[in-house]
Amino acid sequence: MFIESFKVDSPNVKYTESEIHSVYNYETTELVHENRNGTYQWIVKPKTVKYEFKTEAHVPKLGVMLVGWGGNNGTTLTAGVIANREGISWATKDKVQQANYFGSLTQASSIRVGSFNGEEIYAPFKSLLPMVNPDDIVFGGWDISNMNLADAMGRAKVLDIDLQKQLRPYMEHMVPLPGIYDPDFIAANQGSRADNVIKGTKKEQVQQLIKDIREFKEQNKVDRIVVLWTANTERYSNVVVGLNDTMENLMASVDRDEAEISPSTLFAIACVLENVPFINGSPQNTFVPGLVELAIQRNSLIGGDDFKSGQTKMKSVLVDFLVGAGIKPTSIVSYNHLGNNDGMNLSAPQTFRSKEISKSNVVDDMVASNGILYEPGEHPDHVVVIKYVPYVGDSKRAMDEYMSEIFMGGKSTIVLHNTCEDSLLAAPIILDLVLLAELSTRIQLKAEGEGKFHSFHPVATILSYLTKAPLVPPGTPVVNALSKQRAMLENILRACVGLAPENNMILEYK
Ligand code: NAD
Repeated sequence: MFIESFKVDSPNVKYTESEIHSVYNYETTELVHENRNGTYQWIVKPKTVKYEFKTEAHVPKLGVMLVGWGGNNGTTLTAGVIANREGISWATKDKVQQANYFGSLTQASSIRVGSFNGEEIYAPFKSLLPMVNPDDIVFGGWDISNMNLADAMGRAKVLDIDLQKQLRPYMEHMVPLPGIYDPDFIAANQGSRADNVIKGTKKEQVQQLIKDIREFKEQNKVDRIVVLWTANTERYSNVVVGLNDTMENLMASVDRDEAEISPSTLFAIACVLENVPFINGSPQNTFVPGLVELAIQRNSLIGGDDFKSGQTKMKSVLVDFLVGAGIKPTSIVSYNHLGNNDGMNLSAPQTFRSKEISKSNVVDDMVASNGILYEPGEHPDHVVVIKYVPYVGDSKRAMDEYMSEIFMGGKSTIVLHNTCEDSLLAAPIILDLVLLAELSTRIQLKAEGEGKFHSFHPVATILSYLTKAPLVPPGTPVVNALSKQRAMLENILRACVGLAPENNMILEYK
């Protein structure tokens, strides 16, 4: 059964006008490796840590500024939200289609809240905590192409033509602010698009971005802003001692106009200086060590990297299942071909390399979790190929072959083929990223013994379900398995309303 909303009635949770306050017992374990009776043993000690969570109940008016607003993702997301907001439907060759938010974890998935009369009861994921309604988001942003959003939606060739016609009047007046174009960081084939660029030194460019953010906030009367990079994939920037390895060195390098500071890092700097959450949806290393240090020092949210939309999402499910089932993946080969502007940009070796890196580590934690299947340091062969094939446009093809060793030396080969508009996968993920980033800035917590409430660590691991190469604070484990990432997110939000984590034990019926 499905219910629309619920309220928790518990001595551990208090709802007031302004906040939701919860007390939460975090059941965890402490591990020690110690000498007992002459031999070293691993000792596991269950422990309970009492936490308090405070969630600001007031939902702000949210502005979202996209870097690469005029691209396939930027236009598809903007169009999709307007279509939802305006209740637009359109004729396809199959049926009359209504706008929806399918593919969004927050808007179109559900959570189990309990059972009633022998039936499982589910509620919308978004009913857990007060969240911004995507229909209310004000969109804006930057692009190195000055095309208005209606024309850019046409250029993207993603949405049905009848829908595009209805959306044009809403999008014609939307024109991206000038972006930062540095031909050294994206493919040379993007040069002809760059007719809308901020001139000046890197320091002046950062100052311009700060001005843009302030003006957008003022003009649209929004309370909060989230900025998200969905612009072209850049090459990796070199991390060099004295250049971008520390906060001071990074800021000094901006002042000196050092060539190796990438446009995406300049955007991230502007956001951190303005205390505006910044999310990186592309694979490049925007978050050089100096930037991470700056974000931590200013307690400004950063999250990334690279939307986990299709092939990698499947991989983080399938390999988790295989390794979890005691089956040993030995070879994983992933081919993609796509024909949109992202594909064209990725046809240059240096930008492809960024994608290859972000796609490469996704099975590491699952492989490391099973020492019965893998020797220390052993790893399946893992190859990723991306080719630009203009004819298929945004309709990306992903083909994967997984080979595994099974019982008694047998081999199992699984082959997958997915055909799908890339931007229709990415747009709802962008929505979730900005909604969850905003929500997480309204949550404060403290463990017993801690004097004061504090926000989550500015490096937002809570967003990792949505990213291919989750950015984590130094010294923190990276979790790629999709089910664990989802459980982490859901259980943290449950804790904020004093609910136990979903443990799937269903003991009531045992
Ligand atoms: P796109 O090429 O259609 O859009 C990118 C836009 O960014 C373009 O309009 C371009 O003019 C603009 N741009 C480039 N550099 C800029 C800069 N410095 N400042 C401002 N604007 C700039 O690409 P897309 O399909 O929308 O994808 C966007 C990004 O998302 C890519 O990096 C892609 O790798 C990443 N991504 C996409 C998916 C997906 O499923 N669609 C998944 C993971 C990651």
